[in-house]
Amino acid sequence: MTRIDLHSHSSVSDGTDTPAEVLGYAVTAGLDVLALTDHDTVGGIAEAAEHVPPGFVLVPGMELSCAFAGSSVHLVSYLFDPEAPGLAAELRRVRSDRASRAEEMVAKLRALGVDVSWERVLRIAGAGHDEYADANTIGRPHLARAIVEAGAARDVQDAFDRWIGSGGPAYAARYALDPVRAVGLVRAAGGVCSLAHPGRAEGALNGAVPVDLVERMVAAGLGGIEADHPSHNRAQTKEWRGVAADLGVVVTGSSDDHGSLTGHRLGCRTTAPEAFEELVAPATGAALIRG
Ligand code: AMP
Ligand code: MN
Ligand code: MN
Ligand code: MN
Repeated sequence: MTRIDLHSHSSVSDGTDTPAEVLGYAVTAGLDVLALTDHDTVGGIAEAAEHVPPGFVLVPGMELSCAFAGSSVHLVSYLFDPEAPGLAAELRRVRSDRASRAEEMVAKLRALGVDVSWERVLRIAGAGHDEYADANTIGRPHLARAIVEAGAARDVQDAFDRWIGSGGPAYAARYALDPVRAVGLVRAAGGVCSLAHPGRAEGALNGAVPVDLVERMVAAGLGGIEADHPSHNRAQTKEWRGVAADLGVVVTGSSDDHGSLTGHRLGCRTTAPEAFEELVAPATGAALIRG
């Protein structure tokens, strides 16, 4: 049985393990296929590609930050050309705004008496590499770790609850794409995509992505819905499997592993081989990386 996990993070974004280490954990977890989907970057793919063992398949990917009605909507995207002009420009804009937004949040935290420094956050965000690079993305989990180090929260979850969760005292919003336009950009770059954890849209919607938005995303070329995700309960998984069936797109299943931040969990949810084949069939922007 081929075991396929289509959503994971490395230290190039907010995971804790380097891309090389993620591949090692994927093999240990008994996976045959892994998509590395760091937030808004393919900066880890080249390193991951050097560590694909014989018989293993790496799917180059990314989790693209979108927003709708004040809530985050995430698009796990695969096999696109990262140099395609429209998409590349948006990725640079999202990453650059992530950095200025994180700096703004550091300023808010300091004004609230939390002793975090921008230099320390940059060092955490560059973990495993000599320094923070343009292709890396800064995210709130890096800030959360700095807050814990400063003694202002017990753990990362507590840092989100007290300080940096959506609407929290040190929260700042950031630029993200319109979800329908994002699907079009990924498709125009030769890629395919699945709607990540649709039951968990953080922010004003406080819950699920609206189904009428999902319909418009499908009309723009969305190929899958990540119904099987560790943050979904049984009812949500069932509901989103039903939405996928109704809209004629495949169901994907993934761990959304972030290394030690999520408790290493690669392979805790998987995608059926037939669903994977159907999802990636239209992709022309990049090739699967075989060991
Ligand atoms: P950002 O992309 O900077 O807005 O941060 C969002 C990231 O923070 C997500 O991709 C998760 O990895 C993580 N995250 C979001 N909410 C929480 C939470 N309540 N506790 C811990 N991590 C979270
Ligand atoms: Mn994340
Ligand atoms: Mn996500
Ligand atoms: Mn993710």
